[in-house]
Amino acid sequence: MIITRTRKELDVALKNFSKNSEKLALIPTMGNLHEGHLSLIRIAKKHASKTISTIFVNPLQFGKNEDYDKYPRTHEDDIKKLNYEKCDILFLPVNNKEVFSNIEDIKTIHSGILGSELCGKIRPGHFDGVLTVVNKLFEIINPDVAVFGAKDYQQEILIRQMAVSLHPNIELIKAPIIRAENGIALSSRNNYLSEPELEMAANLYKSLYHSAQSYKKNVDLKTIISEAKNYLISKKLIPHYFELRDHNLNKIDINQFEGKKVFLGSVTINNTRLIDNIEF
Ligand code: AMP
Repeated sequence: MIITRTRKELDVALKNFSKNSEKLALIPTMGNLHEGHLSLIRIAKKHASKTISTIFVNPLQFGKNEDYDKYPRTHEDDIKKLNYEKCDILFLPVNNKEVFSNIEDIKTIHSGILGSELCGKIRPGHFDGVLTVVNKLFEIINPDVAVFGAKDYQQEILIRQMAVSLHPNIELIKAPIIRAENGIALSSRNNYLSEPELEMAANLYKSLYHSAQSYKKNVDLKTIISEAKNYLISKKLIPHYFELRDHNLNKIDINQFEGKKVFLGSVTINNTRLIDNIEF
């Protein structure tokens, strides 16, 4: 794997690839790689001849009191894992300037109304930060394909909406959620939790799964949601939202909605906020 730490190094590596007219797939990450991230690389390899992964903890998507400083940075381990997966290029910028050359000149991408709902309600500005960095990475790298996880459902939809107008030639692929044996969605933030807390956190998935089953059985939607929230509270998880939406994240407040839909939930457990969803 070619490891590039600056824009210059990245440009050289990309030029060498484009000479051979390769199809390039991008997998953006913030590092601390786990099986969820690695599954994205494996999927990317099915859609392109070369893969490029980025590891960048993007300051723009963290709020003032969030975990930007303590976010796990495990570069050595990450590089080993990417080598093992035979990723072709890694862009691991030495500093923020290698991504946003001129911090004053950043082209902010606004995430609109959807960006202020669900996770956006709890994390104002978060999705603007995500879209701004993804747009930048798309501009710098210009991939043919980009892979994002369904774990961050709202993020994936917002990126898709952004790409329709700004990057219509990039094919976006949504990768399924990779879970631990107890159902919990793998996440770098799970590292903040102790073993007993991880067991508690698995109740978020249980409540999502149970809610989907109840909806299929036509249990009243309001009842499903209030029971799910009560269940989470009884398991010492603090729910922020628990909602049913369609696959484009339009609100659903009826039973027997025929199309593809998704229950999405977010909880806090001992200051760590987790998200998960189940599509059905
Ligand atoms: P992150 O490093 O958290 O920014 O995630 C980088 C990419 O990995 C995003 O597209 C995430 O949606 C995806 N991802 C994270 N966790 C999982 C998981 N458990 N299963 C599938 N994809 C994931």
